[in-house]
Amino acid sequence: MTTFENLGLSPALLRRLQEQGIANPTPVQAAAIPVLMAGEDAIVQAQTGTGKTLAFLLPILENIRVDKPEAQALIITPTRELALQITAEARKLAAAREGLSLLAAYGGQDVERQLRKLKGGAQLVIGTPGRLLDHLRRGSLTLGAVRMLVLDEADQMLHMGFLAEVEEIILQVPRSRQTMLFSATMPDRVKRLARTYMDRPQDIRVAETPR
Ligand code: ADP
Ligand code: MG
Repeated sequence: MTTFENLGLSPALLRRLQEQGIANPTPVQAAAIPVLMAGEDAIVQAQTGTGKTLAFLLPILENIRVDKPEAQALIITPTRELALQITAEARKLAAAREGLSLLAAYGGQDVERQLRKLKGGAQLVIGTPGRLLDHLRRGSLTLGAVRMLVLDEADQMLHMGFLAEVEEIILQVPRSRQTMLFSATMPDRVKRLARTYMDRPQDIRVAETPR
């Protein structure tokens, strides 16, 4: 059986996982983490509830540089609930990377607070398409230093009619980035998005029952 140690995670992150009682990687985490830690693009398809969030958060937390203030990792997710969930999971692990700052940017929340936080520099930004675009248009967020881009729940973003906004955001991220796409299902429109914006992505598909 694969352990988080075998996956090459640092002792600091291993400790945080242990503290939370997260003992062993789920199948999708075991398959995706090595590929993503190596900096490769990947399309990860697995059902809801299989642990996709940690599959991208752990490689991001390992690869983020806490000595640089700019946004280096961007996670685009369809709903504020998901943005909050991902942010909460990231915060629980963030103690493993001293100096890491994160920001959740979603609609309905105090934009002024988000603006102040962005000014201070958030290295990891987690947001919904509309609010992210809002910040990009105001100039309060720039993506020129983003190296890691996650499209979370891509099929939901399609169903909610967000793909045009998502594409507008992707176009502002340097091409040299790593792109990670997560989805429970793979409609044609999502496949097309992957073909257009990803660089030789690894296909990771895990059939399993959700936890
Ligand atoms: P998905 O994005 O695939 O729908 P999540 O990442 O939201 O799934 O994870 C579903 C649940 O499983 C969450 O409550 C999460 O905390 C838990 N979980 C994720 N990975 C593990 C693990 N390795 N061990 C135990 N619980 C886990
Ligand atoms: Mg998810």
